[in-house]
Amino acid sequence: MERLTDISVIRDILSRHGFTFSKALGQNFLINPSVCPRMAESAVEGEHTGVLEIGPGIGVLTRELLERAEKVVAVELDRRLLPVLDETLAEYDNLRVVNADVLELDLNKLIAGEFDGMDVAVCANLPYYITSPVIMKLLEDHLPVRTITVMVQKEAAVRLCAEPGTRDSSAITAAVRYYCTPELLFHVSSGSFMPAPRVDSAVIQLRLHEPQVHPKDEKTFFKVIRAAFAQRRKTVLNSLSSSLSLDKTAVRAILESAGVDATARAERLTLGDFAAIADAVYEKE
Ligand code: SAM
Repeated sequence: MERLTDISVIRDILSRHGFTFSKALGQNFLINPSVCPRMAESAVEGEHTGVLEIGPGIGVLTRELLERAEKVVAVELDRRLLPVLDETLAEYDNLRVVNADVLELDLNKLIAGEFDGMDVAVCANLPYYITSPVIMKLLEDHLPVRTITVMVQKEAAVRLCAEPGTRDSSAITAAVRYYCTPELLFHVSSGSFMPAPRVDSAVIQLRLHEPQVHPKDEKTFFKVIRAAFAQRRKTVLNSLSSSLSLDKTAVRAILESAGVDATARAERLTLGDFAAIADAVYEKE
């Protein structure tokens, strides 16, 4: 079996298929041989695991997942990679490649159709240009998955794994904490990729759990979180007032009924605070 982390093997495969890297599609392929086995080991927690992979590239992570999981469904947008994957993963019969944009797919339908009776995990070296939308989609779609194990830019990893109430927290931190417990697994240097990106990366794992706060309406909850962080240097009173286009008296009343200090900044608020504000906004609407 050819090593898909070997630069000369990659060059040979890509040149035979006339493939050139697309920067726009975030194509930085892994060449560090220790990274994919570690990611796959973390993602596949039992033999009856079905893995949804996003962006298999030439299949370097896919192969490690296929060795451990019952089935892998890999969603790849770039159709030029389909014949490459046919070649590199020819020996596996537990793989399905779907040529689609992951942001456009009905993932609940895909999972229900492909992974019947299996524990489901998501694993990916994510294209960095869509890290946040992909993670938000995976969470907001309420997919029946146990874990999401993904490579992201180091800065994104810090935000995604930040403790709420700290400087690094942001709107996505709050969303992540609502749905799951994040963990930074390990760092990966830029030299681990071909071509090498300008930034370092990290692998994180999000373990899904039942939400610990229960806002009356999830849409309003996330709208409030986004609005509060939209101008994070402002007080929550000013940020909510300008982002939700509500006058300050109305926002002051909302914050008072939610028991939240109007002079606090969004990064200081807990999920319980956001839920209380969202409920007050929802009642008013
Ligand atoms: N998994 C491979 C690896 O680790 O070497 C490739 C990872 S590369 C960072 C990202 C992959 O995602 C590329 O194969 C790219 O074509 C694919 N991709 C980019 N945008 C996508 C989208 N919207 N939906 C599905 N795949 C996408």
